[in-house]
Amino acid sequence: LTAFLNGQFAPLDTLQVSVMDRGFLFGDGVYEVIPVYNRQPFRLEEHLQRLENSLAAIALVNPYSRGRWAELIHAIVAAQDFEDQSVYLQVTRGAAWPRNHALPAQVTPTVLIYADELAAPLPAMVEQGVTAISAGDIRWLRCNIKATALLANVLLRQMAVDAGVAETVLFRDGLLIEGSSSNIFVVSQGEILAPPPSHLMLTGITYDLILELAQQHALPYRVCEITEQQVRDADEVWLTSSSKEVLALVQLDDQLVGDGKPGPVFREMHRHYQQFKRDVMRN
Ligand code: PLP
Repeated sequence: LTAFLNGQFAPLDTLQVSVMDRGFLFGDGVYEVIPVYNRQPFRLEEHLQRLENSLAAIALVNPYSRGRWAELIHAIVAAQDFEDQSVYLQVTRGAAWPRNHALPAQVTPTVLIYADELAAPLPAMVEQGVTAISAGDIRWLRCNIKATALLANVLLRQMAVDAGVAETVLFRDGLLIEGSSSNIFVVSQGEILAPPPSHLMLTGITYDLILELAQQHALPYRVCEITEQQVRDADEVWLTSSSKEVLALVQLDDQLVGDGKPGPVFREMHRHYQQFKRDVMRN
């Protein structure tokens, strides 16, 4: 796998960074995951915009222009054997001595980009849906930053793995926030409900696309606070992310969602999503 580190292209397993890198010591960095279909990065501009927002939020100067990022990503994509890929990129603040929480005056960010084969959702996951558990949101109050410091997300996802389910759905103060690595939508009485973007959640590139598609196809939707009870009473619950696209959640904890099968609004949205992908790949 050809990867990029600090200006050099080389096989991923040969790359090394300093143990004093603040990404390693403090989780002081941000990242993006970009799906690539037919060697075309999907929603690249949106991902690069969110990267800029994350960098600005942690006072890290963007090391590259939009154009340079696009060039580097395209070069990484071109170097792989697969048509469909997942590009991972991260920028950490870089290596600095001595170890000190406060920001170093002089430091060069560490930039890593690599791509792997895309693990698309299995047809069975689309047709039958997936299951989830719920948990209180134990993360910090700046979840809008796509930070590499993911310890809480790691523990929350492991809860799902231990329970044999696909995701952990997070609630804070009785309200739906998101999943441990996905956004969550609800369908109630034919209306798609989405939690309002805030510092408590990461607004997914897929989240935005789902709302765009709802708008485009005149599906009723509303961005509003969603209570835990509304989720448990919902006709449909969906999970979205760049790698999972959109999947129906058919069971939450011990309770079926609706009739325990992916619902009609999900099936319509999934169809629009696949059509949208085909349309952009043709252009
Ligand atoms: N929320 C969290 C916490 C995530 O980690 C992710 C992505 O992995 C998402 C939401 C979905 O974001 P996107 O649709 O941009 O992949």
